[in-house]
Amino acid sequence: MLRTPRNATEEQIRNLVSKRMGWVNRKLRLTQQNSQNSFHPKFDVGTQLPYLGRFHSLTLSSGIARFGLLRGVFSIPKGRKDCIKEDVIKWYKNRAKVYLNQRIEKLQGNYQESPKSIRILDLKGRWASCSEDKTINLNWKLVLLPTRLIDYVLHHELCHLKFHDHSNRYWRHLARKCSNWKKLSQELEEKGVRYYLSSVENNPQLQSLVNDTSS
Ligand SMILES: [Zn+2]
Repeated sequence: MLRTPRNATEEQIRNLVSKRMGWVNRKLRLTQQNSQNSFHPKFDVGTQLPYLGRFHSLTLSSGIARFGLLRGVFSIPKGRKDCIKEDVIKWYKNRAKVYLNQRIEKLQGNYQESPKSIRILDLKGRWASCSEDKTINLNWKLVLLPTRLIDYVLHHELCHLKFHDHSNRYWRHLARKCSNWKKLSQELEEKGVRYYLSSVENNPQLQSLVNDTSS
């Protein structure tokens, strides 16, 4: 949570936010303190998992060939009951490729600079990053978040194509492209890891897979 003195100037606030913006580089690893507020489902049939910020139950279904989100529930084919975790991660990664590429392509229309390439990866400890050579790396786990938070992360990286730092001119550029970025940044800080990500990563069965699976 970011609190600012009532009479702080825009620049002072920006500097303060800049100092607090470690989220891009911060380890997503949960601290003990964080985990007290976390959401800890037991991973199994009935568990609720997020996709684009909405939680859906894992449910066994007959008559389907593969795992998927059908009519608001994560549907598991009866024969895949022992492979739920693999199917879930594979599904998330496939959705991430489709959704994140489509979304960044759409937002990119408002920018003069284009990324050299966009990669969807299993990033450790980051939601996203932008390298000096204008490659944007996106964590597939972004699709756990509500779309407004995904958009904020995408804007954050697209703005780095022009300014590869967190300078005042960078924040001014971001404010022009994403006017409510402060609110979204705060929401991401408060809920991104503790609520959305932890619902998948705090699950012991999923955790090893999340950590071991390369993209
Ligand atoms: Zn940044």
